[in-house]
Order: sequence, then C-alpha cells, then structure tokens
Amino acid sequence: MEKRVYNFSPGPAALPLPALEEAQRDLLAMPGAGVSVMEMSHRSKQFTAIIETAEANLRKLLAIPENYHVLFLQGGAQMQFGMVPMNLLRNSGKSADYIVTGTWGKKALAAAKTQGDARAAFDASDTNFNRIPEASELELDPNAAYVHITSNETIQGVQFPTEPDVGDAPLVCDSSSDILGWPVDVSKYGILYACAQKNVGPSGVTVVIIREDLAAESPADLPPMLRYQDLAAGKSLMNTPPTFAIYMVKLVTDWLLREFGDLEKMAEVNRKKSGMLYDVIDGSGGFYLPHAQANCRSIMNVPFRLANADLDAPFLEEAGGVGLAALKGHRSVGGCRASIYNAMPVEGVEALRDFMLDFAKKNA
Ligand code: PMP
Repeated sequence: MEKRVYNFSPGPAALPLPALEEAQRDLLAMPGAGVSVMEMSHRSKQFTAIIETAEANLRKLLAIPENYHVLFLQGGAQMQFGMVPMNLLRNSGKSADYIVTGTWGKKALAAAKTQGDARAAFDASDTNFNRIPEASELELDPNAAYVHITSNETIQGVQFPTEPDVGDAPLVCDSSSDILGWPVDVSKYGILYACAQKNVGPSGVTVVIIREDLAAESPADLPPMLRYQDLAAGKSLMNTPPTFAIYMVKLVTDWLLREFGDLEKMAEVNRKKSGMLYDVIDGSGGFYLPHAQANCRSIMNVPFRLANADLDAPFLEEAGGVGLAALKGHRSVGGCRASIYNAMPVEGVEALRDFMLDFAKKNA
C-alpha cells in the first residue's frame, strides 16, 4: 500500500486515520446492515442513527444550546454566502455588515451584495489581510440585519481570538477552517456555518448551526431547499443528503470525543502545534516571515514566506521529498502555508519544525 504522508493541505484536508480505517473496515457492509453506508436509504433505521449521532456529537463538542438547529446541507460554505443574505437580508428592509479580514470574507460580501444592501464595516485589504480590526475601527450599523465575520481566514491565517463585540445584531460566522479547533460560545452567534472538508469530515456536507428564531424568519418566497426553516423542519432530510459525508462527520466527531474528550483538550494540542511553527518563524532571524500579525495568528493555518523567494521552490520540493506534503501557499499571499487542523498529529508538526530548522541552517 502507498505510504501516507503528512498532509498540510488547506482543504480537503487530512482526516483522522482511525476514522478512515473505520470507514474502510465497514465500507462493504455496515455492521447490522449488510450493505455499504452509500447503498442504504437516507430514511433507513441505520442512517437515522448515523445522522442523529453526528448531530449529538456536534452538540456535545460545541455545547450547542437547545434553541439551535444543526443542519447538514450541501453546496459548501459558499452556498451559505448566498443563503444567509437570501434568508436574513433580502426582505429585511435593513443592511448587513461584513467584517472583511481575508479572501473568504470578501467573497461572502460580494455574494451578499447580490441579495441586498451589504456593506463592509471593516476591510483589511490595504494590508493584504494580515490583521483583525480594533473595536474602534468597526463601522457598524446598530440596526443591521446581521454582522458577518470569518472566524479564521484560511488563506491569510488570520483568526479572531474571540468574537468581536457587534452589539445587538445577530452575529453570523463562517467558521469553515476553525470549527471544532477550539471551544466557542455558540450562544453568541445567530448562525455559525462551516464546510466540512477541513476540520469536520470530507467535502460534500456543510454544517449550519442556526438559532431557531432566526430560521423562523426565513421569507416565504424562497424555494424550500434555500429556506432555513424548511431545511430545519425536514431535519436535513428534505432531499437526499450527502450520506457518506455525514457518516464521515460521525466518525470524525466520534474520534474527537474518544481521543480528546472536549474542545478544551483539542485546543491545547492545536496551540502547541501552531506555537511550534510560529516559534521557528520568529526565531529564524528573518529567514522565514509570518503573514498575520501576532495578535491574530491562526492556530489552524500558518502561512509564511521565505525572505529569499528563490528558496520557495527548493523548500517545497525538499519538504515533499521527506513526506511533508501540500505546503504551497495560496497565490495571493505567496510562499508557504501549513494547514494543521485537528487531524494533523503533533508528530507531523514536529517533523515540519525540524525540517524548517534544518533548511534554514543549510540555506542561511
Ligand atoms: N470559507 C472559508 C473560510 C474557507 O476556507 C473556504 C474553503 N477553503 C470556503 C469558505 C469555501 O468553501 P466551499 O468550497 O465549501 O464553498
């Protein structure tokens, strides 16, 4: 069998090996069912247990309050860029505020503008998205339909250490690249959504956690598949859901609960992993340069450049040669990026750290 490498891909990203092994073991015949999870009805007793456990696991890990729906939807996080304003902005008679701290927030704002009056309450594009705003920089409309943030900008590696104070407007958050990476207080959010393919499972499913009263405001003139209220009433089974992806969400969250117990423990490991890499960057005497400012550095995505850009290609090639894969940075930031979601083991980050130290020594 081909050897597995340490996969630093930003997404679809590394999955926990025990979850993959369990899926492999049961792929041809699920215990008690005799068929693959891909071959059973989404209304079967077996699949009902799978989707209910996936939801229960998420509720437990994130301490999701009772008055929130947990939905498993399709269309990725970018579908939510459209559905949020369709449901909360288009008929509201209000505007919506977007705090734009990176590429994904910018895309979310552009999508919202197709549905109504969406505006940037902050935009860090002038510093190539390397920071989060001070409270005094936010130009918030107290009457906004909602305020949208991207808790972790996957490309720029900029993460809000805590939620910004946005007053009384519902806070809507794209948490695609840091959900389950550390604990959050869900009660502070109107909607928290995340595509699965970084920290929750494979691509194909998107988790939407939405407060019941906000879902209930969905306008009547939307097709059912785009209305949060209908999707919630249908328990994510109004149409055929991505059954295999939801099954993997169950296995990944089972693993999280088994291996770490809670997100506090997971966060400790994530802080340790990201800290190792930032220490190398900071201690490199300018050989490696970070992208994000120190007060908002992501624990999930660590983008960095080599001061001598001619060394980018040899760095990536040599890293690949020793089993450290998918470290190329996004073209808008350049250089390298280590995505170190929950499933990246500490040993993988240690191997990258040692490689970086060695590469700097040889090429300084
Ligand atoms: N938001 C963030 C923060 C992301 O990292 C990504 C994917 N990289 C997206 C949105 C888009 O996700 P999808 O491809 O599932 O639409």
